Amino acid sequence: MLNIAITGASGRMGRALLQAVHSTEGLSLVGATVSPGSSLAGADAGELAGVGNLGVALTADVGIAFADADVVIDFTTPEATLRHLDQLENTGKRIVIGTTGFSGTQLARLKQASEAIPVVFAANYSVGVTLSLQLLRMAARVMGESSDIEIIEAHHRHKVDAPSGTALRMGEAVAETLGRDLAKCAVYGREGQEGPRAEDTIGFATVRAGDIVGEHTVLFASEGERLEIKHKASSRQTFALGAVRAAQWLKGQPAGLYDMEAVLGL
Ligand code: NAD
Repeated sequence: MLNIAITGASGRMGRALLQAVHSTEGLSLVGATVSPGSSLAGADAGELAGVGNLGVALTADVGIAFADADVVIDFTTPEATLRHLDQLENTGKRIVIGTTGFSGTQLARLKQASEAIPVVFAANYSVGVTLSLQLLRMAARVMGESSDIEIIEAHHRHKVDAPSGTALRMGEAVAETLGRDLAKCAVYGREGQEGPRAEDTIGFATVRAGDIVGEHTVLFASEGERLEIKHKASSRQTFALGAVRAAQWLKGQPAGLYDMEAVLGL
């Protein structure tokens, strides 16, 4: 049996993760956290996720929530994730991180923690998006130098970071393949920019609307033709089940930083 603790259990992904852990054989929920001061502390995690009583009380105390866990699954905020890493660093426990929106300094801290404990960190846990990274590298190799590359993403109105971590990861995959530095070639929105499109740039456009779960399109457009690699998520369960798969895979791994491509063996 693999013991799982879920942080941010009352969030959109937290609830999806509670359902995914509940529906997966061989997993046992042993802890679930909510934000410090949350009125939900003490309530049963299963009731929150609509799967009946699981006998696991929501708590703001990570010491209690992590005590019996083999793997923590964390989809919260960058600040909360770093606090969870501080807590886990000397315990030998493992963590699957889905949080996005880390600054460069925060990412450096995450990488440092992965020297001590096994960490899976992916901006997107869906199988389709993970596979699309390989398709994007292939497209970049064949068409990248002769195409204008633009990444368009859409998410629900509550999303706090932009562009999405997935869009940035897709941009990195394309830029790396073309030998470009995304920090130098990315263009985020074009308001105020005059003149024609600069060659070798990768453009990002963001849509925030309604309840869109997550859509990404990468456009390779040249004279006379256009290739679009598109992914649409229609349910958060795809991310939650991917994160659960990562937790199962992580059990057998030594300390290190892994991504979803490693989990899927791509
Ligand atoms: P959300 O706002 O619905 O949920 C975040 C939850 O974290 C909230 O319930 C909040 O109370 C809780 N939280 C904040 N600080 C906490 C703390 N110190 N302790 C415990 N809980 C705390 O957001 P969401 O839509 O569930 O997304 C969460 C994160 O996951 C975002 O960064 C989002 O971009 C990312 N995400 C990643 C993937 C992926 O596949 N990697 C998919 C979807 C969302």
